[in-house]
Amino acid sequence: MKPHSPSIMAHGRRWLKRHMSQNIQPARNARIPDRTALIAGVRAGDRTMLARAITLVESRLPRHEIEAQAILQALLPHTGRARRVGITGSPGVGKSTFIETFGCQLVEHGHRVAVLTIDPSSARSHGSILGDKTRMEKLCQSTQAFIRPSPAGEQLGGVARRTRETMLLCEAAGFDVVLVESVGVGQTEIALRSMTDFFLLLLLPGAGDELQGIKKGIVEMADLVAINKADGENRQRAELAAQDQAAALHYLQPATPGWVTEVILCSGRDGQGVDAIWKHIEKFYAQLGPCGGIEQRRQQQSLAWLTDLIDDELKRRFYSNPCVSARLEQSQRDLMAGQITAVNAARLLLAATEPTNPFLPEPNKN
Ligand code: GDP
Repeated sequence: MKPHSPSIMAHGRRWLKRHMSQNIQPARNARIPDRTALIAGVRAGDRTMLARAITLVESRLPRHEIEAQAILQALLPHTGRARRVGITGSPGVGKSTFIETFGCQLVEHGHRVAVLTIDPSSARSHGSILGDKTRMEKLCQSTQAFIRPSPAGEQLGGVARRTRETMLLCEAAGFDVVLVESVGVGQTEIALRSMTDFFLLLLLPGAGDELQGIKKGIVEMADLVAINKADGENRQRAELAAQDQAAALHYLQPATPGWVTEVILCSGRDGQGVDAIWKHIEKFYAQLGPCGGIEQRRQQQSLAWLTDLIDDELKRRFYSNPCVSARLEQSQRDLMAGQITAVNAARLLLAATEPTNPFLPEPNKN
C-alpha cells in the first residue's frame, strides 16, 4: 500500500504522547469537526457523524490528519468486531446487484451493514462506482446500512489506507458486517485481501477465467467462489462452470489454511444462493475463529500494513531530501556511463541523507 501523507507511525511515540495525553478539546477551527462530538457520534452509530469522521480520514490536510488519527486512536478499542468480507469480480459480473441483495438480506436478519469500495479509478472519473445513485438503491435507503464510495483523487495505496481506516470507523459505529468491494481490475484485489477476513470471488457462468479478466492469482486468494447470474438460461452453463472451477481449485493451495475453498452458484438478481453464501461465511468464522485463525490473519495484516507505511514514509523522505535530489541525477548518469556500480551509487545516495556522515562526497563527485 502506498499512502502519501505522513502517518501516525512516522511521527512516532512522541506524537502519540503529545496528542493522546492531552484533554480532548473541541477544535478551534470551525471547519474541523469537533473531536469529542465525532467520537461520541460514531460510537452512537450516528451515520451523519460517521460520514463526517470518514471525510476527516479522507482529507489530506495535515491538521485533519492529526484529528483523524486522534479519533481513530480513541475508537480503536471499539473496532474489530465486524465480519470483514471482501467481494471482487470483473466489471459486469454483477457485484453491485449482488451486494444490494446480500446487504438487504443481512439487514433483514438484523445485521448492520457497511459497504465500502476500493476503486482508485474514481480518482480519474471524479466519482465512484458507488457514487452512482442507481446502484444499491434499496440498500441505500435502509437505516441499518451505510454505503460509502471510494475516496477520490488517490492512488491505490491511498485508497486502500483510507478504506481500511473507514472500515475501523464503521466497526466503531456498530456495523457488524463490513462488505468491501473492489472493482476487480489490477491490484485492487490484493489490497482487498490485505484488509478483509473472507474473500469472495464472483465469476460469470460459462466464460473462461481469462475472458473474465481474472488472473489465477485472484482465484488463489478466494475463500469462496460464487458463479453469479446462475439463473434462467444461464443455469446449466453455471453448473458446468462451477464444476470446472472446483476441479481447478483442487490443485491450488487453500487461500486460508484449514479452510477449503468451495464453488457455489448464486443469482444476485433473483437472490437464489445468496443466503447460502452468508451461511458459508458464518461457517468460516465458526471454524477459524475459535482456533485463532481470524485473529492471526488480522495481526499479520496489521503488521504488513505497518511495514508498508514505514517503507512508504522512508521512501518519501528519501526522495524529498534536498541532498538526495542534488545528487540523484548525477548518480544516474554515472551509473549509465558505467562509472559506478549500482550498489555504490545507492550507498552514496543513502549516505547523502545522513549529513553527519564524514564519508559523504560533494555533489557531482563520486
Ligand atoms: P458490476 O459491474 O459487477 O457491479 O455489475 P452490475 O451489478 O452492475 O450488473 C451488471 C449487469 O448484469 C446488469 O445489467 C445487471 O442487471 C446484470 N445482472 C446482475 N446480476 C445479475 C444476476 O444475478 N443475473 C442476471 N441474469 N443478470 C444480472
